[in-house]
Amino acid sequence: MAQTGKIGVTAENIFPVIKKFLYSDHEIFLRELVANAVDATQKMKALAGCGDFKGELGDLTVRVALDPENKTLTITDRGIGMTAEEVDKYINQIAFSSAGEFLEKYKDQLGSIIGHFGLGFYSSFMVSKKVVINTLSWREGAQAVRWECDGDPEYTLTEGTHSQRGTEITLYLDDDAMEFAEEARIKTLLNKYCKFMPIPIAYGKAGAEDKDTRIINATDPIWTKKPTDLTEEDYLNFYRELYPMQDEPLFHIHLNVDYPFNLTGVLYFPKIKEQMEIQRNKIQLFCNQVFVTDSVENIVPEFLTLLHGVIDSPDIPLNVSRSYLQSDSNVKKISTYITKKVADRLEEIFKNDRSNFESKWDNLKLFIEFGMLSDEKFCERAEKFALLKNTEGKFFSYEDYRKAIETEQTDKNKKVVYLYATDVEEQYAYIETAKNKGYDVLLFDCQLDSHFVGLLEQRIPDSTFARVDADVIDKLICKEDLNRPEFTAEETTDLSSMFESALPTGNHYYVTAENLGETGQPILITQSEFMRRYREMSAMGGGMNFYGEMPASYNIAINVENPLIQRILKAQKEATGSKAEAFSQEAHTLHTALDAIMEANKDKKAEDISTSDRDEQERIEKELDRVREARKALMVEFANSNELLHQVTDLALLANNMLKGKSLNEFIKRSISLL
Ligand code: ADP
Repeated sequence: MAQTGKIGVTAENIFPVIKKFLYSDHEIFLRELVANAVDATQKMKALAGCGDFKGELGDLTVRVALDPENKTLTITDRGIGMTAEEVDKYINQIAFSSAGEFLEKYKDQLGSIIGHFGLGFYSSFMVSKKVVINTLSWREGAQAVRWECDGDPEYTLTEGTHSQRGTEITLYLDDDAMEFAEEARIKTLLNKYCKFMPIPIAYGKAGAEDKDTRIINATDPIWTKKPTDLTEEDYLNFYRELYPMQDEPLFHIHLNVDYPFNLTGVLYFPKIKEQMEIQRNKIQLFCNQVFVTDSVENIVPEFLTLLHGVIDSPDIPLNVSRSYLQSDSNVKKISTYITKKVADRLEEIFKNDRSNFESKWDNLKLFIEFGMLSDEKFCERAEKFALLKNTEGKFFSYEDYRKAIETEQTDKNKKVVYLYATDVEEQYAYIETAKNKGYDVLLFDCQLDSHFVGLLEQRIPDSTFARVDADVIDKLICKEDLNRPEFTAEETTDLSSMFESALPTGNHYYVTAENLGETGQPILITQSEFMRRYREMSAMGGGMNFYGEMPASYNIAINVENPLIQRILKAQKEATGSKAEAFSQEAHTLHTALDAIMEANKDKKAEDISTSDRDEQERIEKELDRVREARKALMVEFANSNELLHQVTDLALLANNMLKGKSLNEFIKRSISLL
């Protein structure tokens, strides 16, 4: 029966090509060969099952044996085997020509194709200088066959001596593939690719089968079973097996669909405590229990890559480039299906086991918020089960929260104002003030929250979100026009001059006089919601660098109803009153003169104004500047001499964690001397 021939490939010699391009993926040969052995064995079982085969099946274990001395690796199965015609057809013609076609088709983009396209048997040549197949078909009276090929597209096909049904494939490892002659390496690969294959696989040294071989796989992983046959413990055990180093997961989802595509799997919600520790690529993709990849980012929406677990689908095309995957209609359907299932499951737990859901919210929150921010469909669903947590640790659904605050927190423009804090400790005083007014304060303390607040504001009709320290509370939730103190522009400027001089340099301050009640704090420092959000977003790389580079800007509300402030204002009147009055007079006179010149020239074009008028105008403006500066200096001088002013300002800074270093030290000394 001896036959020699040339394999029907189009390219004259494609072995070097495939070796070069698939360099990083050489290891998949083992998966391909073991998967073929498993396939052949399953076919055998099927033949026995339907009665076509009536003999003994025997031990169906697939055996992988390494001979480190002779540098050979042998994969043996007791599957259906092949006749000479079959070897010719499947190995010589189909396997090789399909590899040839594949290369032909993708030769332009070979470099960009990463991964796993199942070159099958052919991939053994990535690591071998010679491959020998010994096989005996299950058919009655079949003749054993030996096929041999040394990496050139030339093979020999002869009568063989293989005495047991099935196939034995021996790889003579190439000199540059010696890593695969190491026991530990093969073991790792079997564990990676074959751990859940459906036929038992034994691995050991060649010739020592019984003593040293061990079954390396679990043939019935839980995703192949019915959820009703599984306990919570089974799911946990499976998780521990997949991720031995991880914390226990929060929940699991069992996926099982067979139309319009076939997909099974178990996904887990991991505990995500800190955004920093997010690890993607934890989902493992299988195809009929054969491991394919652990990078699923083109198969599931980005936020789902935070999940852990396994998906198994023969309907995800493997032999295409990654960018093509996203546009594949099956992949799209699968992605939509998984998103929906995840939302279903979360909603189910929310409805049926609310306290459990709440207790796990802190660890789930980042995942859900990320999903809501990145996936419109998921967002719509999640609005029904996502929770809001307030500063007291109470949870609310969006709907319930709205109901709870609507009456109290609606402002005069009919907007419901959602107050929030990002740090309970730092914003303590503001939270207390809001609570004393009967308002509720939410807690948004994770990194995504500054984006998330923006999303909520968009999605919740008639809402605004404001951090508790963004302004005085009656301005945050403005119910009627506020009763503002009657301060002239000059008086407000004086106030500004005095207090700014006591505040740290380098920031912008906007000082206003406010009526915040006799018992209200003397000074309230707030930071505008708008400015703060933009600064935070640009710090996170939101691209709004203009705001990121601007100095921080604070509103300084001086509560002129507070007795301490009144004492300061009284002292100011006494110390600066007559001089200030003189400045006012002077300024008034200058303004009058300036107005007269303006009035006289109001209809003239700039070039028609006389030089003397222009000079005079310039002189008056300079004078005005001088008066302003002198007045400011007067106020600063007063401020510097007034300990109480410094004391109340420092207290306000202290409440905002803004009193540091030298200023803090001075504050402490002053406080002691005052006591
Ligand atoms: P694929 O598995 O994708 O069909 P392969 O190149 O891996 O491609 O294999 C080609 C064919 O050779 C298989 O379809 C099968 O018919 C046959 N074959 C390969 N390995 C075995 C085996 N261990 N036992 C029986 N037949 C095999």
